[in-house]
Amino acid sequence: MKVLKFGGTSIGTPAQIRTALDIIADSASKGRIAVVVSALSGVTDRLIEMANRAAAKDMTYLDLLDRLEARHIKYAQTLIGKENRETAINDLRSLIKELKNLLRGVSLLRHLTPKTLDRILSIGERLSVIIISHSLKSGHIAAEALDARRIIVTDETFGAARVKLDKTYSSIRACFRACSALQVVTGYIAASVNGNTTTLGRSGSDYTAALIGAALNATAIEIWTDVNGVLSADPRKVPEAFTLPYLTYEEAREMSQFGAKVIFPPALRPAIDRNIPILIRNTFQPDSRGTIINNHPQSKKSTVMGFSSLNGITLIRVKGNGMPDGVGIMGRLFHILAKEKINPLFISLAPGDHAVRFAVKTEETQKARAVVEKEFALEIQANMMETIKAENNLSIIAVVGRNMSRLPAISGRVFNALGRNGIKIVAATQGSSERNISIVVNQKDETKAVRSLHDAFFSRT
Ligand code: ASP
Ligand code: MG
Repeated sequence: MKVLKFGGTSIGTPAQIRTALDIIADSASKGRIAVVVSALSGVTDRLIEMANRAAAKDMTYLDLLDRLEARHIKYAQTLIGKENRETAINDLRSLIKELKNLLRGVSLLRHLTPKTLDRILSIGERLSVIIISHSLKSGHIAAEALDARRIIVTDETFGAARVKLDKTYSSIRACFRACSALQVVTGYIAASVNGNTTTLGRSGSDYTAALIGAALNATAIEIWTDVNGVLSADPRKVPEAFTLPYLTYEEAREMSQFGAKVIFPPALRPAIDRNIPILIRNTFQPDSRGTIINNHPQSKKSTVMGFSSLNGITLIRVKGNGMPDGVGIMGRLFHILAKEKINPLFISLAPGDHAVRFAVKTEETQKARAVVEKEFALEIQANMMETIKAENNLSIIAVVGRNMSRLPAISGRVFNALGRNGIKIVAATQGSSERNISIVVNQKDETKAVRSLHDAFFSRT
């Protein structure tokens, strides 16, 4: 058994869907498979936009809704054979009606809750599986749409629900035991024990595929996307970036940490637990091998494998005024950040200075700052701590590699390459793992920095 997942960018046009259908048909002819799909490309963003407009009583949400309906119906007409077309279009229309009712509710109440938003977002994947499953049927493949709300059980953290693994695995197994047709499963969406619709977090379809793969002990989880696997850097920044043929799960996690288009990080866990390889493949170049992610490192040599980076970063500095209790401060700081679900992307300590700097996404700055100021209000008032400072317009770059701490020369080369190219390092840390060195630079220097690093480590001249 294999699980194939197709992201939105693999199913953005009818022609692209045809390509995906060929890949599915080819795999299905070789053995049992399950298919997981995202919403058509851009649909999730569009649904969020509609929901926001409806909440603001901006009636143009209806125009977006019409366009969404027209697009899906056109795809159905283009892809689905006569025998199934009408059923498919009726199913699509009844989902659009459900969406319309939800949006009308939002606009009447002028209020959008995370719970309602998840209901609205679920429509994207529920629409796409109708198109894909019926198109497969038209190609004489016995396929069925499967709503993942029947098999994936979560808590009620709407927007980023946590999966209850035992319940989920047993319902996946029960469901697949009971059916013989090829299941085309909605990615991204799930349901709570109480039956409320939830979502797994943006890009969560990978996670759906991994859960199904793990439950069914699949031989592989194939993530079909629009790039040739995991690249050594973002090709939009570094044209020379190349495909990494093999990565370990941990390396893949490091590479995807800063938004590199690799894999949704929680999806790695189920694969790791069952030791199932994850293949990242390009729908539009199915002959290229892509990247294989598994648990055997290709070598033990110290090496740099790639770079990933993220802009829109803010560094927040918390600094004591010669306070005796540095450790207590750190403890309280990290405790309060964790409690408020603020996840620092980078932490640098200067214990002698009683200072900590941590990086957050800029949109989280206000919240992070308020939380820290509240926690340390007394200390700040008593002048035992300096006011909290925030530095904006920064980017963070991860240098991802293997056994890097064994080779101090690697950090030397990193700093050299940046220095030589006149890039100011705002902050840097050797990550707690040997797999990551993180560097904060000014956002305007990000592309140049990644290019200089790529060049320093990979250029053949
Ligand atoms: N459609 C969802 C999103 O755009 C889930 C996914 O694509 O994996 O985030
Ligand atoms: Mg998507």
